Amino acid sequence: MSRLGCKCGNALSNVNSPSENILYVWPEELIQKVTQSAADMSAFDFSTTIGDCDYEVWYCQNCERVAVVGVKERRVRAYYNRVESGETVPDVSGWKVFYEISEMDFDRIIEQNFEIKISDVAQNCLRLWLSPDQRQVCIETLEGTNQLIYILEEIVPVKAVL
Ligand SMILES: [Zn+2]
Repeated sequence: MSRLGCKCGNALSNVNSPSENILYVWPEELIQKVTQSAADMSAFDFSTTIGDCDYEVWYCQNCERVAVVGVKERRVRAYYNRVESGETVPDVSGWKVFYEISEMDFDRIIEQNFEIKISDVAQNCLRLWLSPDQRQVCIETLEGTNQLIYILEEIVPVKAVL
C-alpha cells in the first residue's frame, strides 16, 4: 500500500484496489515473448509474475500527470501531458513500445473472465512509445488515431511514499 504526492497537490494512492491511480505498463517485447512461448498464460498469472516490472506507473486524474517510479533506482520520473493543438506528432520509429492498461480496466476484464489470456488482454491495451532518451512519451488514444504527447518534467528521488 503506497501513496504518492502529485506536483498538482493531489494525493495519489493505491490503498483501494483496483486504484484509478495505477496503470499497468508492459514492454511489447515482454508481451510478445509470452504470447509466443506461453500463449495460454492467463492475464492474472502474467500480471502477478513476469509482468511485475521493476517500476510502477501512477496516473493523476486531476492534472493527467504520469509518474514512473523506479522501484530499484528509487527515482520518480514525472511526465506532463503537453496539450497543443496543431502540433505534429513525433516520429516514433525506433522508440520502445509498451502496452498500457489501467488497473481498473484490467481488474474489470479479469472479473468478467478469470481465465482470460494475457494475449487477449493485450488487444485491449493502448500502445505507448518511449523515446530513446526517455524524455518523450507518445500514447495512442482510444480512437487509435491521435496521440497524446507526454514530456519529462523532472526526475526526483523517491520520498517516504513507498
Ligand atoms: Zn496531479
